[in-house]
Amino acid sequence: MTSDHFNTIIIGAGPGGLSAAKVLAENGRKVLVCERNTRIGTKVCAGGITLTGQNQAVPRHLIEQEFPQQHVSSGWQQTIIRNRKPIVSTINREALGGWMAKQARDAGAVIKTGCRVRSIHGKTVQTDAGTYQFDTLIGADGATSLVRRYLNLPTELIGTGIHYHIPGVLPEMVWHLDATVFNTGYAWIFPQANRTSVGAYSFRADMGPKVLKEKLHQWMDGRGINYASLSPKAGNISFDYRGYQFDNIYLVGEAAGLASGLTGEGILPAIISGEEIANIILNPSHTPSKLARLIKNHSRHTKILLLSGKSNFHCRVIMESLVLALRLKLIPFSALEMGN
Ligand SMILES: Cc1cc2nc3c(=O)[nH]c(=O)nc-3n(C[C@H](O)[C@H](O)[C@H](O)COP(=O)(O)OP(=O)(O)OC[C@H]3O[C@@H](n4cnc5c(N)ncnc54)[C@H](O)[C@@H]3O)c2cc1C
Repeated sequence: MTSDHFNTIIIGAGPGGLSAAKVLAENGRKVLVCERNTRIGTKVCAGGITLTGQNQAVPRHLIEQEFPQQHVSSGWQQTIIRNRKPIVSTINREALGGWMAKQARDAGAVIKTGCRVRSIHGKTVQTDAGTYQFDTLIGADGATSLVRRYLNLPTELIGTGIHYHIPGVLPEMVWHLDATVFNTGYAWIFPQANRTSVGAYSFRADMGPKVLKEKLHQWMDGRGINYASLSPKAGNISFDYRGYQFDNIYLVGEAAGLASGLTGEGILPAIISGEEIANIILNPSHTPSKLARLIKNHSRHTKILLLSGKSNFHCRVIMESLVLALRLKLIPFSALEMGN
């Protein structure tokens, strides 16, 4: 094998790409991760990590704030969901990226930053840093994946997340699911170590980014949250899942459309799918039970979202029923987790 030839090339050093790189490298595979940014983990993200993620994928030292209480409201209801353990915690994406990159590098993976992949031809990728050959390729390149486009897979189910990082730490973690304002989406307040992510998410077919931003501003104004001198950051969230294996090319995380269309949760789905795809590459008869569970949850989330989007009536009934079910403890908050 020449220095430009790798068993597996992974495009993208997000949580999906880095988790796959670690598993493959620690099993002796020659792995290259190509990341277009010069810094790892600069992804626009609110940094919310669910209980399953805290237990299975993120070490304690990366947790910035823990929230055993969730403040959930809708048009008609307001409730506080309580648990003994933190229901959702927050992390810093650069810290997560740095930690995951170290794990992958320690296992032997080569990670090249400032290395945008420009094109794929047969078993070769052309990047800003040179041309490399692969036996298998993993597209871990997020919601606007080049690998997905190379495979001619459309991306139709896509959401938008917009947020501000407000200086200072607001006291509560908040979810606001008001169908009259955000349709099938919601607004959030996720406090971190010394700043707070305040944002909103919506399925694009229900509400475009411009209207979502206006609604977010109205909601923040109503809560007295000052964003006047700050710039919002926005990103796509893809949940258009159409498979993960295409001959010797695999997709993980958002490149595979594996985020939740309902909540926008995508960190843990990326980590789970990265690990599982790596295990499938190492052993084609591996049974990916965690991935199967993830895909089942993903499909349930998509069905609820698409049903809510049928009309404003459907949306109101479903959002209010969801909040009522949480309020009456008919379902635990963990029922909304993707990795549960
Ligand atoms: C506003 C917002 C808030 C969010 N909040 C949360 C949250 O609180 N909790 C949660 O779980 N999820 C959240 N998400 C979703 C979450 O951020 C993503 O689902 C998750 O990062 C997906 O991981 P990934 O590894 O699949 O892709 P990404 O994290 O997007 O990583 C893809 C990587 O590929 C690189 N790349 C892309 N193209 C190329 C190329 N051609 N060549 C080389 N490199 C390339 C990118 O630079 C990037 O580093 C949020 C998203 C948004 C937009």
